[in-house]
Amino acid sequence: MKEFLISKYKDVEPYVPGEQPRDKKYLKLNTNESPYSPSEAVLKAVADSASSLQLYPDPACRDLKAALAGSLGLQPENILPTNGSDEVLSLSFMAYAHDEKPAYYADVTYGFYDVLSGLFGVKAKHFALRDDFTIDISEYCGLDSGLIVIANPNAPTGIAIGVNEIEKICKESPDCVVLIDEAYVEFGAESAVGLVTKYPNLIVSRTYSKSMSLAGARLGYAIANEERIRELETLKYTLNPYSVNRTALAAGVAAVEDIEYYKNNCRLVAETRDRTAERLKELGFELTDSKTNFVFCRHPGVQASELTDKLRQAGILVRHFTGERTNDWLRISIGTPEDMLALTNTLEEILNGGRV
Ligand code: PMP
Repeated sequence: MKEFLISKYKDVEPYVPGEQPRDKKYLKLNTNESPYSPSEAVLKAVADSASSLQLYPDPACRDLKAALAGSLGLQPENILPTNGSDEVLSLSFMAYAHDEKPAYYADVTYGFYDVLSGLFGVKAKHFALRDDFTIDISEYCGLDSGLIVIANPNAPTGIAIGVNEIEKICKESPDCVVLIDEAYVEFGAESAVGLVTKYPNLIVSRTYSKSMSLAGARLGYAIANEERIRELETLKYTLNPYSVNRTALAAGVAAVEDIEYYKNNCRLVAETRDRTAERLKELGFELTDSKTNFVFCRHPGVQASELTDKLRQAGILVRHFTGERTNDWLRISIGTPEDMLALTNTLEEILNGGRV
């Protein structure tokens, strides 16, 4: 067999997204999407954008930068819209880490960080979470170069840290870039956005995929000091200047203008999460304290892989990560109250031996 692929990519480990099967209709609680549709205003903006799709989008994303800056009390120069927040992560790994400048992150966190370390030849230093999956902040203080990456709240554990702890890391590792991945922050954690004007080493990444019901549009953004944004934007222009398409830009602006609709959805999801957590506890599950749109849980009596398979047979998809520390656990996205009732009723049947 002829070898075409250059050697440095031969062993890259790609990210494995949650499954999207087509054999039948499933209740999808495996990819942390919103159960609620985009708002009417966003649907209209998306439809209106279609008549200009013969034109490239604005590569500088000026309207969206202005809308986001206005809503966050920052300047457009502090914002970089991207193709999902995964693009913020890619650009940051590319910009601030390599073999001599490590990337520091938890041993149990978003799997894409390891994928990016592999792709960019970054030395990854994993700091083990404690047994209860909480993070030991002191490990991230006093580091002298490279990229610190913390998902806050963390995924798949759902556990959040406070802004004071993030500030301590920024202050005590001033020569590292500190990337706070806030993909789930709107569901109950504190945002570090208020710190970006104070700490030039801080980058916050956000997404429209969860709280803003736009996972299918692929839209995210970085928030940082203007120097960091310029660096990331330069890299964006070298890779894919038009990474954010015209429809996503229009949807993104309309969603910011309709923020109350989305805040209300996030409140509903958080309420449903807390009710689901109570019900799961009644069924004997152990849960972490999730501040996200998913719960992370395990049952002492049944293996997570078995629960995943049985739920799948019953038409419900959840996520099981086969890692040493996650193998016993399930990550279950929060849907509507009816979705979650279907989930907990099915689990109850499984646990009572009713579904084989
Ligand atoms: N960060 C975390 C922690 C995530 O779970 C995800 C979703 N898979 C992302 C970032 C990326 O989300 P998106 O690219 O859809 O914005």
